[in-house]
Amino acid sequence: MPRVCNEILYDGTLLTYSTDAIFPIVKQMTHSPVIHLFSGKIHDDLKCKCGNTLITGYIKDVFLSVAIECNKCNELTLTPKLPYGEILPNGLGLFVLEDREYFINAPLFLDLRKIMMGNTTLRQDQKMFDPVRQPLESTTFQDIVKKTQDIYNVLTKNSLSKHMCSVRRSKRTSETPNAEYPLPWALDYVTAAENLSLKDVSEDKNFIAATQFILSFFDVMSRWKHHPVFEEFGEVFSGRKAFHHNVSQLMAATIMVQGGNRVGLAKAIGEGIRTPDMYVNFAEIGRFHIEVKAPEALQWASNTPLTDNVIELILKKHLQKGQTNSNNRGILVIGCTRFGSIGRINKVFKNTIKAIGRSHRGVAGIYVLQNRDFKIIAKNGIEALPEMIPISQVFLANEHYKGDNPFRRGPSARL
Ligand SMILES: [Zn+2]
Repeated sequence: MPRVCNEILYDGTLLTYSTDAIFPIVKQMTHSPVIHLFSGKIHDDLKCKCGNTLITGYIKDVFLSVAIECNKCNELTLTPKLPYGEILPNGLGLFVLEDREYFINAPLFLDLRKIMMGNTTLRQDQKMFDPVRQPLESTTFQDIVKKTQDIYNVLTKNSLSKHMCSVRRSKRTSETPNAEYPLPWALDYVTAAENLSLKDVSEDKNFIAATQFILSFFDVMSRWKHHPVFEEFGEVFSGRKAFHHNVSQLMAATIMVQGGNRVGLAKAIGEGIRTPDMYVNFAEIGRFHIEVKAPEALQWASNTPLTDNVIELILKKHLQKGQTNSNNRGILVIGCTRFGSIGRINKVFKNTIKAIGRSHRGVAGIYVLQNRDFKIIAKNGIEALPEMIPISQVFLANEHYKGDNPFRRGPSARL
């Protein structure tokens, strides 16, 4: 039988309609509220449309997609859904209600360490933040090259051949593969190396870098293409800055999720768009930004001489210009694809954050990702293929961070 449902939208708008939809229903069996919420602050009560109190100390983010049936008028009050694209906070217990009725005779006492929610919200949330593990066992490198070409064409509206032409033109004038289009460069490079021997390609740093670009791209695409903001990544995946930035971002996201964090991907991603790239919500401290940088000098095969001074300046610049500060607390992720320099980069970064961390007390730390060197064991097979792409990761905590650092053990550590 259809019921009257008063649905509260996330922005507070109230919709009243008649429905026979199924959701978890908390039935108020007495005159007492069904829930007392303790938050340490005063909040308004949640009342039914008839004026009867349903929850005392109501906070909307703590009750998601739960219908409460009023004891007085029998109408349903449905609490807001998690907004589209939003993630649940880390570090909270989830009190998941099934699609059935719950009879409440005496008020339940809850605090802010738990979220009560309907299972629909949980499903939506999981779909949002989970990367998919792609079984690569039966995939050969040639398959990956072919699929990568197809994906790139889809993302860039068939621009692969145009970008490859541009790569080949610059190849005539320069030996250095400081390509404007990293992925087309990589695809062109491995295809051109088809007739070379295993020994030749194993010793060729460019071949290894090109292979790594392709594998990294393929890996993050396979894991994240279901994500609702995926299409926005796509359009900005071609250019040099955007490619390394986005690959680093999605790799960092993968590792963080594997470490037990729920990671939200911000909607607009790309060059020149100044919004934090990702975020994690914490129950106690709120939103925590994850800003991603892939400085050009740290990418293969930049010409910039990588002196300690240069490395230090890169970090200083990103700390100063970045959006992570005392008002927007977070971490800085730095992606590097420049082989053979990671030890040095880490050392300089470590000293720099120690020296100037006090001036950046909103930055919890620097998370450095670098493609690790790997062996090519067969012309068509890469040792790392069936596994996760080999990434080395180092977290340098800022000891001067203001407050309790939620990432003191690093973003890939389970919190
Ligand atoms: Zn009522």
